[in-house]
Amino acid sequence: MSIANNLAKIKSALPPHVTLVAVSKTKPVTDLMEAYNAGQRIFGENKIQEMTEKWQQMPKDIQWHMIGHVQSNKVKYMIPYVSLIHGVDSLKLLIEINRLAAKWRKKVDCLLQIHIAEEETKFGLDENELEEMLKQVQHDKDQFVNIKIVGLMGMATFTDDQTQIKREFLHLKAIFDKHSQMKTDNCHLTTLSMGMSGDYQLAIECGSNMIRIGSSIFGDRSSLTPEGGIE
Ligand SMILES: *Cc1c(COP(=O)(O)O)cnc(C)c1O
Repeated sequence: MSIANNLAKIKSALPPHVTLVAVSKTKPVTDLMEAYNAGQRIFGENKIQEMTEKWQQMPKDIQWHMIGHVQSNKVKYMIPYVSLIHGVDSLKLLIEINRLAAKWRKKVDCLLQIHIAEEETKFGLDENELEEMLKQVQHDKDQFVNIKIVGLMGMATFTDDQTQIKREFLHLKAIFDKHSQMKTDNCHLTTLSMGMSGDYQLAIECGSNMIRIGSSIFGDRSSLTPEGGIE
């Protein structure tokens, strides 16, 4: 199957309220261009340098999403063009994004990453940390004017146990619902980013409205290539 065919197949079965992020990490620009020519405009990468190189080479109407773990010292490289940062998991990082966005006179959309999986290695905030961060951002609203928290992101445990994955997705959806009434200039949770190639149908059933699909569009990534956003 070609990339265009894979995309068409996935999109034909997606409810209209669900946004598809094509996760293109480790893949060459030629592959991304095939998706672009088939109409895809949102791409997800997990390394800032790789995303920057692809941004330079590709059409400028693409929305680039950073889906990996972000190191504060590299934020500056992506601020000029990034359209959504999925993995914000500390106040320190949010402060740095806000500071650099101010330099560029931009307002950068962010998702807060919530830890819902069993594995300790997956990044993310717990519920208390989330509440603390939301409080801070609203309390210091005159400071946080160059970011907007537009939703939450999470990754389920890597397991075949559908019951467990479903439980984790529903847990994240409940956290999302709990905070989605809040509406300020810098915080309004409307996007719930959950679901990847192996579990996106289940994620949508559980309330996801943004899915991040890599291998089902572009094919498997080489096992020799590091992933997971750990740099
Ligand atoms: C790699 C990655 C994906 C896509 O994974 P696939 O299983 O290839 O669809 C989604 N989200 C994040 C955060 C990733 O790092």
